[in-house]
Amino acid sequence: MFQGWLKIEHICPSCGLDYDFAAPDDGPAFFALCFVAFPLLFLVVGFEVMLRPPWWIHLLVSLPLMTLPCLLALRPIKGWLVASQYVNRAQEAGTEASWAELNARVRSGRPDQR
Ligand SMILES: [Zn+2]
Repeated sequence: MFQGWLKIEHICPSCGLDYDFAAPDDGPAFFALCFVAFPLLFLVVGFEVMLRPPWWIHLLVSLPLMTLPCLLALRPIKGWLVASQYVNRAQEAGTEASWAELNARVRSGRPDQR
């Protein structure tokens, strides 16, 4: 479902699903912060409080410990959010008519790919 690191394919190469509905926006970053960065922050703060290392140790240990897991979590979280949007037919409440009109306009502007 991905082309590259985080960019979503336009159409699924396996089943032909049109990914036009997929708009996880900043959801992956938000959930990576909540589920990964926030718990790791306690580890890093505990490291600082208990051992009082010099600042450059934080640069070598804490910075990679905080950033790498967050970056690695973005892709599976984005996949999960897109799958959730598909399964739940997610759209912003009250915008059904606007979405239908927008999708009709977009679809009439290019050949139908379904
Ligand atoms: Zn597919």
